[in-house]
Amino acid sequence: MTIADDINPISPLAMTREQFVAACAQLGVGSGRAKTGYAKVYRQGIAHAQPAKITVPPIVKRLEEQTPEGLTIKFVQRLPNDNHQLAHKGIDFDDIESVIIPMIGRSTRKTHTLCVSSQVGCAMGCGFCETAQMGLIRSLTAEEIVAQWWAAKHIEGIHIDNIVFMGMGEPLDNLDEVFRAIECLTDRAGAAIPMSAITISTVGRVDGLRRIKQQVQTHGWRKLGLALSLNAPNDQVRDELMPLNKKWNMQGLQDILVELREVRGGRKIMIEYVLIPGVNNASEHAAQVAEWMKPFMKGTIAAGKKRGHGGLLNIIPYNPIRNSPWPAPTEAQVEEFVGWLMNHGIFVNRRRTKGRSTMAACGQLGTEEIRKRNFVPLTTNQECND
Ligand code: SAH
Repeated sequence: MTIADDINPISPLAMTREQFVAACAQLGVGSGRAKTGYAKVYRQGIAHAQPAKITVPPIVKRLEEQTPEGLTIKFVQRLPNDNHQLAHKGIDFDDIESVIIPMIGRSTRKTHTLCVSSQVGCAMGCGFCETAQMGLIRSLTAEEIVAQWWAAKHIEGIHIDNIVFMGMGEPLDNLDEVFRAIECLTDRAGAAIPMSAITISTVGRVDGLRRIKQQVQTHGWRKLGLALSLNAPNDQVRDELMPLNKKWNMQGLQDILVELREVRGGRKIMIEYVLIPGVNNASEHAAQVAEWMKPFMKGTIAAGKKRGHGGLLNIIPYNPIRNSPWPAPTEAQVEEFVGWLMNHGIFVNRRRTKGRSTMAACGQLGTEEIRKRNFVPLTTNQECND
């Protein structure tokens, strides 16, 4: 028996290979053994390969839906929960949801995007979002975020090309763990997801966006993708839909995004717009959105190359939440709104809603049982966890 067989195994989840090698060295395990263990966990999907051992929360529910681009899969992992407040209510687990979304790209190559959760529930309180109705239960650890990738890749058996933080939760409410997870997921010796294939989506916490501005100026982080859920044409509507807007309004958001655009060398920032009939779909709304987008629409000159446009608007048809006061937009309403925006010179992407019937679409994450646990107050006034 060698020393690597002898020791208590270590979990490399949320570690880079280098970090894992260092942790193993502390226990007297050589780097060769450590690297092999790491590769077996990440590349071959072996959960226990001395000196590495991971525990991945089991998949307790799984839904599939056929879409024109392929099979969309939602899976629910059950995390252990030692929160006694919950235990006395007879609830001793946390469920989180992830969605694997197939996409056929321009080259007609099929890719898969994994939509990950960063929290159980969410504290942001957006009125149109299913997850928000739960309140925040807790934030996920980096290990729990990476375990969603591991489950998609090695339990579902699907190669993941892109990762978007658009599942349950507000990633900027949990930025330390989100950064740690991304550091691990981009390690070439492990999951090997390119930084440019990872996108953080936010309601627009300006304090968190400032931290991202610092982070993208460090080595290897420059190409991190960013998305902002704008969802409104003006502060009046945004205050109503997204309580956080009362703290950081659309002007403040525009300012920080312009700064980010500079440090990111003109890379596009995705602007998400959930189209809700009777709320944000009027023609004057299209004009206001176009006006707000103006600073991002100019081409930039970076590194001597013309990079094109810094902003891209994604129109997402509203997917009604349970007991929704609003209906879904009709096809005609979506087309009409897209038309107005294009007339204003905005680049618009129409995002098809996937997995509507399985409740797998963005913003639909939140299961019936866990929604009942709405006891954590909204914390939109909380500072970012730095
Ligand atoms: N908190 C982050 C990430 C989670 S939401 C954020 O807000 O960006 C991911 C996306 O789904 C956001 O763009 C959000 O606006 C959108 N969304 C939320 N509820 C939705 C719904 N009911 N129908 C369609 N999109 C929704």
